Amino acid sequence: MKVLAKMKMGCMDLLFPPVCGSCGVRLAVGSPAKLCPDCTSNIRFLREPLCPICGMEQLDRPGGHGHLCGACLTTPPSYDLARSLVRYETAVRQLVHKLKFGGDTSVAGALADLALRADLSLFADCHVIVPVPLHRLRLRGRGLNQAAVLARLFFAGRERTILPDGLIRVRNTVAQTELRGIDRRKNLKNAFRLNRSFQPDRSIVCLVDDVFTTGTTVEACSRVLKNHGAREVRVITLARASMTGGGR
Ligand SMILES: [Zn+2]
Ligand SMILES: [Zn+2]
Repeated sequence: MKVLAKMKMGCMDLLFPPVCGSCGVRLAVGSPAKLCPDCTSNIRFLREPLCPICGMEQLDRPGGHGHLCGACLTTPPSYDLARSLVRYETAVRQLVHKLKFGGDTSVAGALADLALRADLSLFADCHVIVPVPLHRLRLRGRGLNQAAVLARLFFAGRERTILPDGLIRVRNTVAQTELRGIDRRKNLKNAFRLNRSFQPDRSIVCLVDDVFTTGTTVEACSRVLKNHGAREVRVITLARASMTGGGR
């Protein structure tokens, strides 16, 4: 790096000391890291073996590949596959919370670093990338859709294939986190529709969301896309909550 650029960066660090994107603790001046060592060590990427459909970790089956989890065996989802980058644990929960409810885009650096470390090859041939939408009233309240921010971080350089309004949330439902099982499904009944200008026929669509808990939200979106002729729906979320898929 040129000396002047280095000096400028040092001055910026002194004026605005870098902080951990998750817990907010101060980082060393000039540090390229976006997270403190504690938060970094708290982040765990999902590891094989995974359920080939929903992507749930199957750590009780070491060495096993290609086994469907119980939920996918009994109730196969309409999406073709779902994968998540990391487990939804403390440091990631704080990152998501800051992004979602604080409109704090300063976490974007830390999230971009995670996205860079992820293997997104399963999504390389997707024709169109659609973030799970917020209802327009919630979007107005928050100022951003966290799924759309994540779509741009995961697929940097493919912005032209991202359709932030491909799906529309027509009902301002209560937060899924406050509900369980069947109530989650009821809550999202007819909650999404396709934007009339979007024709997914025969396309491979990538759906993006922040957290996969039981998969009910992405399942509701996927059904709309499949009902309108999408050939495949592949789901990518930043994090995966450690629940079984049984809540579908
Ligand atoms: Zn931290
Ligand atoms: Zn599964």
